[in-house]
Amino acid sequence: MNDTNNTLTLALSKGRIFSETLPLLAAAGISVTEDPERSRKLILPTSDPALRIIIVRASDVPTYVQYGAADLGVAGKDVLIENGTEGLYQPIDLRIAKCHMSVAVRTGFDYENAVRQGARLRVATKYVRMAREHFARKGVHIDLIKLYGSMELAPLIGLSDVIVDLVSTGATLRANNLVEVEHVMDISSRLVVNQASLKLKHARIQPLLDAFERAALLMP
Ligand code: ATP
Ligand code: MG
Repeated sequence: MNDTNNTLTLALSKGRIFSETLPLLAAAGISVTEDPERSRKLILPTSDPALRIIIVRASDVPTYVQYGAADLGVAGKDVLIENGTEGLYQPIDLRIAKCHMSVAVRTGFDYENAVRQGARLRVATKYVRMAREHFARKGVHIDLIKLYGSMELAPLIGLSDVIVDLVSTGATLRANNLVEVEHVMDISSRLVVNQASLKLKHARIQPLLDAFERAALLMP
């Protein structure tokens, strides 16, 4: 657990999770003056001297919280599914960073027909666990190709037949001549809490959870 005193550490990733968590912090009366997009600092103070924010890679948030290096964190459901949630308490769906996991193909690729014919599909994705489970449920045999980004490129240049990727507006798919053919699941970000922190720093954490929960209910 981080610190023996009452200071709390909240792990966030840069970008949409950071910016969409700010209103939730504001609802708890906490403001953050430093902007992680501009500053190179990885530890940011807040208006609450007993709360600091650390900036980590989105997929590293559960790890920091699991080990207790951070007491709390905000992570996408995708990250929690892919990386596991051992030792994490997940009290709240914050309803931020909303998107969905989808299967997409190049315009003109007859996905339904490929599935009907029992063709073996080449699937490129960063989300291998979700992809494996999705196609197993459908009874479709796949070759999984693990990528770390820019999945949209894979079907365009023949690396894969389909991709499994996060979509919010669909603009990126459209811009790359891809179409969504299946909705795998809705995704949003969750608050995750280290279980030991929750017990030992309960008096500090509970008011924060209450404020986040109230604010999350107001999210569209
Ligand atoms: P990195 O960019 O470091 O490889 P990442 O792509 O997972 O990691 P972000 O792009 O910041 O990091 O995404 C963080 C979280 O936001 C994701 O885990 C997911 O839950 C959510 N997310 C991803 N893409 C979108 C999107 N297009 N719209 C809304 N939320 C999204
Ligand atoms: Mg990203």
